[in-house]
Amino acid sequence: MDFKNTLEFAQKLDTQDSLHKYQYEFIFPKINNEKVIYFTGNSLGLQPKRAKKYIDEVMNDWANLAVEGHFYAEKPWWDYHERFANPLSRLVGALPSEVTVMNTLTVNLHLLMVSFYRPTAKRFKIICEEKAFPSDQYMFQSQVHFHGYKPEDAIVEIKRRDGEHNIRLEDILSKIEEVGEELALILIGGVNYYTGQVFDMKTITEVGHKQGAYVGWDLAHATGNIKLELHDWNVDFAAWCSYKYMNSGPGNASGCFVHEKHHNNKELPRFAGWWGHNKERRFKMEPVFDPVQGAGGWQISNLPILSLAPYLASVEMFDEIGMDQLIEKRDLITSYLEFILNEISKEVQGSFEIITPANSSERACQLSVFLHGEGRRLFDYLMKNGVITDWREPNVIRLAPVPLYTSYEDMFHFGQILKRGILDK
Ligand SMILES: *Cc1c(COP(=O)(O)O)cnc(C)c1O
Repeated sequence: MDFKNTLEFAQKLDTQDSLHKYQYEFIFPKINNEKVIYFTGNSLGLQPKRAKKYIDEVMNDWANLAVEGHFYAEKPWWDYHERFANPLSRLVGALPSEVTVMNTLTVNLHLLMVSFYRPTAKRFKIICEEKAFPSDQYMFQSQVHFHGYKPEDAIVEIKRRDGEHNIRLEDILSKIEEVGEELALILIGGVNYYTGQVFDMKTITEVGHKQGAYVGWDLAHATGNIKLELHDWNVDFAAWCSYKYMNSGPGNASGCFVHEKHHNNKELPRFAGWWGHNKERRFKMEPVFDPVQGAGGWQISNLPILSLAPYLASVEMFDEIGMDQLIEKRDLITSYLEFILNEISKEVQGSFEIITPANSSERACQLSVFLHGEGRRLFDYLMKNGVITDWREPNVIRLAPVPLYTSYEDMFHFGQILKRGILDK
């Protein structure tokens, strides 16, 4: 499509956008009494209006039924989490038995590593990406220590080549082969949080398995953003948070995936609790753990229903729309934003550079922009003028034109504000 950097053109794209109406399902903060242009849905998604209704329902059931709500609430609490299985499995390309919701992301990755990181003297290494999200780095270090190894021996980071912003698939694959029989686990962010690079999870999983390793994915920036086929890709396990693209509210519950092929493996160690115990006999208070077949067998505690309520509202909204439709708009609006950035860059003589891959198969809903000769001043200018972006040291802003609630008109206005911010120094 031939894009134009004009208001009329942006508005025309909005009239052709079948998801345009969904922005009215969300609550936007206001700056200068106007709704903001929100680019940080990759960090904390906006509040969907329906979230409150789902929470109120739980509050009312709690008020009216108290403990009886476990069984007699409109959506009974004792198996509330099972309502996620169908819609969430469609969202991540899994079988319903392969997904569940519980805890929070880093906690779930730790719990899954209990099962899938079982180092031996010969096979003890973990492959991850260089500059992984800090929580993941701390997790790797502490897991390795816990098993009596040293991070410098056991953690292998895949590096970017000098002068390059993204990691090459070929470098990941050759590193996997090089580590070979020493490789216990590959665990990478499916979409890199800093650059927005999307990794080829299918190929990496396959090549990791050839070396006899388990392969898991941190899908914090992937779920609700890209098409996932976790079952078919033969991924061993994965986990994600729900408050980024999934709009479920600050710090909210995590989803996780355990491949069907592991469901009957009684040898896999795990940390157990009563919510993972055989569903029919859970309240018989039996002394010996008998896990639920499926990802639900990794559950530990009874669930925070007030947190799950807005997550359920969100998952149902995504299911109603479907990832295909979201992805179609995601690609068009991200390309339009890229076009606008490039146009503005010419007008201000190239003071910034997009570090996200230009190739559409390697990116999703995020453009990370390196600001040459600019700094926090520009970020603050944007914020004052109603654009919420996110600032990462040393001088990168991340822009996520979330297809559910950003418009093409937002992209045009953003371009104008950005240009003024750079020229009006
Ligand atoms: C956001 C994010 C996290 C956050 O973890 P929490 O346990 O939810 O605080 C972890 N890993 C990645 C890759 C992330 O992007």
